[in-house]
Amino acid sequence: MDEPMALNVIMMGPPGAGKGTQAEHFARERNLLKVSTGDILREAIKSETPLGCAAKATMEQGKLIDDPTMIGIVRERLMRPDAMQGFVLDGFPRTVAQARALDRIMTERDGGPLIVVDIVVPERDLVRRLADRRICSSCGANADPFDPTESEDRCKRCGGTFVQRTDDSEDVVLKRLKVYERDTRPLVDYYKDRPTFRIVNGAQAPELVAQELAAVIDSAATAREPRRAARLPRVDNRMEPQL
Ligand code: AMP
Repeated sequence: MDEPMALNVIMMGPPGAGKGTQAEHFARERNLLKVSTGDILREAIKSETPLGCAAKATMEQGKLIDDPTMIGIVRERLMRPDAMQGFVLDGFPRTVAQARALDRIMTERDGGPLIVVDIVVPERDLVRRLADRRICSSCGANADPFDPTESEDRCKRCGGTFVQRTDDSEDVVLKRLKVYERDTRPLVDYYKDRPTFRIVNGAQAPELVAQELAAVIDSAATAREPRRAARLPRVDNRMEPQL
């Protein structure tokens, strides 16, 4: 019997669109590896690793970490055996150079298509959401909007208290939105003609976003099958003159 196809998903969208929350939820539901580059960097800062020390100031200013560093981190993570069953990427790629590198990594992995979901939210909602967002000061998890009691309470994973992210202050948020427009929005053009590209309305309750997201990911995963089947007759045609 055929192996089930790996689901390889990237969540795109501006800061505050809900990528992290939805990536976490979807990965948990489908038992997939979630890779969040922002979480990896925040963890490195907390543990004061060389990566964390080098990235701290750049992140606090709302700027992007350089492409070679980010590509190296993601490549190393996605080539490990536990990523071969599929993954959900949150926060990567953020530049066209990163997207090109991800295509090369996907070719090397040779394990299923890349499904690209763009979560769309109006800018006025983003600024408000980022001002309200809280993360756990201890484990770094987002307060879970699927559990309304948690945001008023303590982190249900580790019992830590919730704080505002240092880069969610108003001036840094405005900078991050500008960086998104300049460096990351061009990725929509990079991906939009692929049969596995989908848009989700992120301006709804988290449960509704999650439902829409699951539906479009499933449709994208099957959408490519007829294309693959359609290629077979072309092989036959090519062989005809030789017979
Ligand atoms: P996030 O948690 O995804 O909002 O990321 C927080 C910050 O981490 C960003 O504002 C960047 O400074 C840095 N970062 C995360 N992912 C990337 C990436 N793929 N490329 C460059 N910088 C990144």
